[in-house]
Amino acid sequence: MQVERVGVVGAGQMGNGIAHVLALAEYDVLMTDISADALTAALALIDKNMTRQVSKGAISEAQKATALGRIKTTQTLSDLGQTDLVIEAATERETIKQAIFEDLLPHLKPTTILTSNTSSISITRLASRTDRPEKFMGFHFMNPVPIMQLVELIRGIATDDETFSACYEVVERIGKTAAAAEDFPAFIVNRILMPMINEAIYTLYEGVGSVRSIDTSLKLGANHPMGPLELADFIGLDTCLAIMNVLHEGLADTKYRPCPLLTKYVEAGWLGRKTKRGFYDYRGETPVPTR
Ligand code: NAD
Repeated sequence: MQVERVGVVGAGQMGNGIAHVLALAEYDVLMTDISADALTAALALIDKNMTRQVSKGAISEAQKATALGRIKTTQTLSDLGQTDLVIEAATERETIKQAIFEDLLPHLKPTTILTSNTSSISITRLASRTDRPEKFMGFHFMNPVPIMQLVELIRGIATDDETFSACYEVVERIGKTAAAAEDFPAFIVNRILMPMINEAIYTLYEGVGSVRSIDTSLKLGANHPMGPLELADFIGLDTCLAIMNVLHEGLADTKYRPCPLLTKYVEAGWLGRKTKRGFYDYRGETPVPTR
């Protein structure tokens, strides 16, 4: 099955990056969102990010122009009916994603592959609500999409080999690397990364180290480019908590219990960089630890 036209649902943080890398790999991209402002902002951001790539010599001015010309937007979901592959990257709420697939299904070609960029929702469960569980899988990009090399490809219980191969080829054509994962809570990256971040927060909570000493330890002692608390602020503490809850509930093992201090930060609305306060305070010139 040859993929040439790709529909992207959701033009937020992830959707704009997904459209960006697909267009540079010469796919025709149709991006949709319920918000006209989100579509306008996504196009402006893609333009800005591609301009930065031109200035670094990563792409040419002509490549940028061609890629931008390949991205079309629409607020009408059914316009995606003629695409070969749909990548859903809307808000992380199961009811929203289910409603999108339900509305889209009557308009799709029988061969269209459906995928979700979800970080935590069961692919098998999402697939079971569609007419094509064998043509449904997880297509999990990392943030920021144009920079991060990995794509996790997640098979639902019914995903067939043809669908997996078609998605694998898309990952290769956009110049990224695929890692295959089975459909269990948080897949691979977050299954390993989040418990480490949660443990760093326990280390802080129990007074073993300060924000600064914990981050310095992992950067210089384990060669991590960012400390775990700095990384948690970058990801968003609400997202970290949501993923820990998925692991805790989905695997029913107390080793995944979210640290009470993480819950407290989220309750305070200190969600990290996006709210200017988390394990660091970002309101001044340089980030200052909050503990
Ligand atoms: P976001 O909030 O930045 O964007 C979501 C977009 O979806 C918004 O523009 C919203 O208007 C749109 N939307 C909501 N309902 C819609 C509908 N019914 N139809 C069309 N559009 C709709 O979120 P994001 O960070 O881009 O996350 C999107 C998905 O990607 C989520 O499933 C998330 O779990 C996943 N993801 C996020 C990250 C990350 O680091 N942010 C990483 C990997 C995967």
